[in-house]
Amino acid sequence: MIIISSNFVRVKCTNCGNESTIFLRASTVIHCSVCEEILAQPAGGKARLVGCSILEVLDSA
Ligand SMILES: [Zn+2]
Repeated sequence: MIIISSNFVRVKCTNCGNESTIFLRASTVIHCSVCEEILAQPAGGKARLVGCSILEVLDSA
């Protein structure tokens, strides 16, 4: 599990390989749009990445 400080990251689903950009301050669970795997769960204002690997950290500015 990885918690990082940027707001957006580009990730790859570990289940199906689909790439998506997720918002790390989301207050709800984020699912893969293809296979419904849980990609991130809210954890105290930051998302905790659980079912994906980070491809790129995007600068929110
Ligand atoms: Zn997936």
